[in-house]
Amino acid sequence: MRVLIMSDIHANIVALEAVLSDAGTVDEVWCLGDLVGYGPNPNEVTARLRDLPNLTCLMGNHDAAVIGLMPHEAFNGDARRSLEWQKSQVNAETLQYLRELPSGPLIRGNVTLVHGSPRDPIWEYVVNTLVARLNFNAFDTDYCVVGHSHVQCAFYLNEKNSRVVLEIPKVDEPYTLKPRVILNPGSVGQPRDRDARASYAIYDSEANTWTARRAAYDVAKVQKRIRAAGLPERHAVRLLEGW
Ligand code: ZN
Repeated sequence: MRVLIMSDIHANIVALEAVLSDAGTVDEVWCLGDLVGYGPNPNEVTARLRDLPNLTCLMGNHDAAVIGLMPHEAFNGDARRSLEWQKSQVNAETLQYLRELPSGPLIRGNVTLVHGSPRDPIWEYVVNTLVARLNFNAFDTDYCVVGHSHVQCAFYLNEKNSRVVLEIPKVDEPYTLKPRVILNPGSVGQPRDRDARASYAIYDSEANTWTARRAAYDVAKVQKRIRAAGLPERHAVRLLEGW
């Protein structure tokens, strides 16, 4: 089975379309949450995802905030302004869809799916080997996929010495998976690893491989929409620089 794994689309429909066409034919799509927030097209992103066949989709912290499950104080200045804008824009269908998203963890075959971390599915960031180490005790499958940090990476556990190693899989090189590992496909709509291209991954459950992928898209077009919507300028600038 060939699975498109993606996360953190953040209302960036142009990046989402680029990923869907770059990925080619897939058997399933696993989306790890944060459909909305930051970007200019929350309704378009939600509608596009909702119509994808064989989709598994989780709730992220921005989705939870837009439907009123998170206090606005949990977000910093620009993120909060953006959140208020998102709340004013989302239509009834979007709200309904976001409300029905599961917060996870979910299990698909040998893989645990969460937005943040296995022990704190909505909020915790798995950004270093220490946090990753603590999280290996919180899931039972060989593999776990997380989003939320917007950085494409893999935390590999050596069970003999209990050490965790951070690896950055090379783009377009299939990475053969060995138990146990926590993987992040990066962010579709707002990558933060200094590469402006939309980030995602292809998981092949038969070959047991993970391939990190990047898809270029028209960043200027999205920046124009962000500015026209009156969203924070920072959200436009960062897209071009990938932070
Ligand atoms: Zn996010």
